[in-house]
Amino acid sequence: MTVSLLWFRRDLRISDHPALVAAAEAGTSVLPVFVLDPRLLTPERPRARRLLASVRALADSLDGRLVVRAGDPVDVIPGLAREVGADTVHVTRETTPFGRRRDAAVGAALGRDGRRLIPTGTPYAAEPGLVVTQSGEPYRVFTPFARAWGAHGSPPPVPPPRRISWFDGDVGPVARAGVPAVDAYGGGAGELAARQQWIDFLADGRLGRYDHDRDRPDLDATSRLSIPLKYGEIHPRTILADIASHPEDRTSGAARFVSELAWREFYADVLWHRPDSAWRDLRPELTHLPYDAGPETDRLVEAWRQGRTGYPIVDAGMRQLLAEGWMHNRLRMVTASFLTKDLHVWWPIGARHFLDHLLDGDIASNNHGWQWVAGTGTDAAPYFRVFSPVRQARRFDPLGDYVRRWVPELGHVPGAAVHEPWSQPNGYDHGYPRRVVDHDDERREALARYRQVRR
Ligand code: FAD
Repeated sequence: MTVSLLWFRRDLRISDHPALVAAAEAGTSVLPVFVLDPRLLTPERPRARRLLASVRALADSLDGRLVVRAGDPVDVIPGLAREVGADTVHVTRETTPFGRRRDAAVGAALGRDGRRLIPTGTPYAAEPGLVVTQSGEPYRVFTPFARAWGAHGSPPPVPPPRRISWFDGDVGPVARAGVPAVDAYGGGAGELAARQQWIDFLADGRLGRYDHDRDRPDLDATSRLSIPLKYGEIHPRTILADIASHPEDRTSGAARFVSELAWREFYADVLWHRPDSAWRDLRPELTHLPYDAGPETDRLVEAWRQGRTGYPIVDAGMRQLLAEGWMHNRLRMVTASFLTKDLHVWWPIGARHFLDHLLDGDIASNNHGWQWVAGTGTDAAPYFRVFSPVRQARRFDPLGDYVRRWVPELGHVPGAAVHEPWSQPNGYDHGYPRRVVDHDDERREALARYRQVRR
């Protein structure tokens, strides 16, 4: 029997897995493999630990059949294919600039040996690039994209293959399940944990209340599925099919949740069409916007990174990011607005920090989320939107509980007063820092800069 490799990347699950089905049904024996690519496994990044935890869970669910090898995939994959005599390598199609470049290089290296890379499926409900306007153009604005994406629909989850013939030959000296130990990742990782997380979200009524509560960081109201989605432990197709098959879940909460998943699809689509927009402004209008730089700005950026800006809601979000590797969407917008509009810092500096710390760090959602806030991205006219940290805090953390959870120096300030320690006689009694800038002044400054370049 001939052999094929199944190379796992952002698809660390075995159910609803089109590439696995394609490999199994090609009539070959299948050797599953994961490559520990040093470019993605920077040890200081929390995401590396999370990834290894997920690979470990995948290895367990494959009963130890997973081959794990370290190195550059352009060497490892053709090398392993040669070792075991595999003619084909099955993958889930990659859509990010890095993934596309890597796969092109691996595909070319395999081709030189007379072997083939076969992509099937993507990490999205609709393959990026597929949903286009009637004239065949990509969508640039979310709402019409979401409408067309909804009309396009999502295929049902893929049933498991009728039979998988796993490769049982020799794979050389490297242990099959050589996943490095994961010492510091406490959360549940892997397909089963992801599935349970989704079931809990449905069962405890959070989906029904989602529309109402989703903007409240003080409540545990969102799914936190961004992390399992990042590693492909669950596919959005599975989520959408579950929602569609439960009429009782077709509430405004469910509709809103689907629309949030559409944002993920939208940003992947934008990045697919414009790979250059990963680290450069998508829209050229603000290219000449003056940004601040220099030692004083470095000091301010460091205060932002450490959660010591003196604006409690900003600091709470930034501290949650460092502690948990996750931040609520509302806080991502507030903290990104603060860096770009109150500190006048170019968005990639913030995007980099987020990617270094977020467990769900995703180049499309993160960098286009940043550009949306900065006004350089997909939103039509956002340059005048400057989030007020106090107004946002009063509206979305009305009792102040979220801030007190993350900023212990303000634990003694009751209720919503915690959002303005400068108005409290004892606000600075426990070492909370003073404001690094004055929001009203910086808002005026941001608007003046924008007006100047838009003229
Ligand atoms: P839920 O509210 O439960 O939403 C369900 C799912 O919908 C999410 O898991 C996510 O896949 C998707 N989703 C929700 N909101 C968005 C959105 N605005 N954009 C894209 N997808 C969305 N999301 C990431 O997955 N990775 C990132 O690196 C990332 N960086 C961001 C940076 C900034 C500056 C901003 C403003 C947003 C960013 N987001 C990112 C989007 C969003 O904040 C997170 O997806 C969300 O907070 C994850 O929490 P959740 O799973 O509980 O979301």
